[in-house]
Amino acid sequence: MTTTPDPRPADGPVLPAGLGADATHAPGAEPPGDRTVLLRVSGRDRPGITAGLLELLSAHDVDVYDMEQVVVRERLTLDVLVGLSGGDDSLKDALFWAFQEDVQLEFEVVESSSSRAGLPRTVVTVVGSHDRMTASALAAVTRAIAAADGNIDRILRLARYPVRAFEFVVVDGDPDAMRGHLVASAQAHLIDVAVQRGDIARRGSRLIVMDVDSTLIRNEVIDLLAEEVGCHAEVAAVTERAMAGELDFAASLRERVALFAGTPVEVLDRVHARVDLTPGARTFVRTLKRLGFKVALVSGGFTAIVRRLADEVGVKRVAANELEVEDGRLTGRLVGEIVDRAGKARVLEAFAADNDISLSQTVAIGDGANDLDMLAVAGLGIAFNAKPIVAESADTAITVPYLDAILFLLGIRREEVEAADLADPSLDTASPIAIPGTPPA
Ligand SMILES: [Mg+2]
Repeated sequence: MTTTPDPRPADGPVLPAGLGADATHAPGAEPPGDRTVLLRVSGRDRPGITAGLLELLSAHDVDVYDMEQVVVRERLTLDVLVGLSGGDDSLKDALFWAFQEDVQLEFEVVESSSSRAGLPRTVVTVVGSHDRMTASALAAVTRAIAAADGNIDRILRLARYPVRAFEFVVVDGDPDAMRGHLVASAQAHLIDVAVQRGDIARRGSRLIVMDVDSTLIRNEVIDLLAEEVGCHAEVAAVTERAMAGELDFAASLRERVALFAGTPVEVLDRVHARVDLTPGARTFVRTLKRLGFKVALVSGGFTAIVRRLADEVGVKRVAANELEVEDGRLTGRLVGEIVDRAGKARVLEAFAADNDISLSQTVAIGDGANDLDMLAVAGLGIAFNAKPIVAESADTAITVPYLDAILFLLGIRREEVEAADLADPSLDTASPIAIPGTPPA
C-alpha cells in the first residue's frame, strides 16, 4: 500500500476563521514572524471595524495566526494574533486607526506557541432553573472548575430564556473531580450542570433515544387508561407492589393489562386525547432532526399510543409494548417481547447498531427506574425531571420542565433554534415554542 504525502504545510499559520492556532499548530512550533503580537480591539460595535483592522494589517503583509471576536450588548471585543516581522509601522498605523475609529486598541507581545495546545478539553454546561442566573451560582460553578484544576478557555451564552444557559469550555483539569464538585454546586444553587468530554464525539450525527411517559409527555399512559377503564385503584395497587419489589416490571405490566380485558379499543382514542406533550417536545425533535440526529422513542407503555405521539412529533422509530386486540376489544394480553428496563437498553443498542452509530454518540433521556440501564449504556444519559435514584446515577440531570433545554447540553444555542424555525416555511408561527414569557429586551 502506498500513501500520498499530505500537501498541506505542517504548521501553516493562516487558519480558517474560528479555528484557534492552538488546534493546528504543532505544540512548540515557531510561526514565521519575528514576534507574535496579540492585538485587542474593544468598543462600541458597528459594521466595518473588523474589516478596517484587517485591511490595515494587510497593507503590512501581516500573518494572522488566530482570531476571536465576541459582541455583548453591542460592545465588541476582537482579538487578533499576528506575526510581525521588521519594524513597528503596522502597530503605529493600528493605533492611529483605533483613534480615528474611536475604539480601544491594546497590544502585547506574547509567546509564539500556547502552553494549552493539545490539553484535553471538557465542556461544562450550566442551565438555570428559571430565567435568572445569579452571580453566586456562577461563582460556585467556576470555583468548582478551578478546584478540579480546570482552566476556563471560553464561555458562551447558549440561552437567555426560558432558561438561562452557559457553556464553559475548560482546558485541563480532572473531569470526574469537576463533576463531583459541580453536583454540590448545582444542588445548592438550583441549577443543572452537565460535564462532557469536549472531543469530537460531541459533534456530528448522534442517536437520541427518549422515554415517553413523564419524559416526552407529562402523563403516565397506563394511569390514564386505568381511569378510562374504571380500574384505577386496582392498577395503582399492582403498581405499588411492583414499586415495593414484590413484582418485576414484566409481571406487573401483564397483571395491570389483564385488568383492561374486554374494553373496546376506542378507549385508546380517549386516552390519546388526554395526553399532554412536555413543553418544548416538538421544538426538541424538530431541531434534532434538522441537525441530522436520529431520534427514537422507547417506552414500557403501549405502541398504540406511542406510535401516535411519534407521528405528532415526527419520530419514525419506536419500541413499546403491544396490546392484543380481538374483535375490537383489548384481550388483556400483550403481544411479543416486553420492553422493560433491560429491553430499553437493548433497543438503544440495536438502534445504534442499525444506524452505524457508536454508543459513545448516543444520548438517552428518561425519568424512571426503567430507564436506568438505557441511561447507563448511552454515551450521555440524561435524567429528565427524574426520580431521585435516576437523577443520582445519570451522567446529568435536567430539572427544568422544558424538553428543549436538553438542546443546550448538546451545545446548540437558542438563537440558532429560533432562526431555523423562522426560516422554516412549514411552521406557521414565528415562535412555536410553547413557553410563556418573552425575552428581556
Ligand atoms: Mg418515564
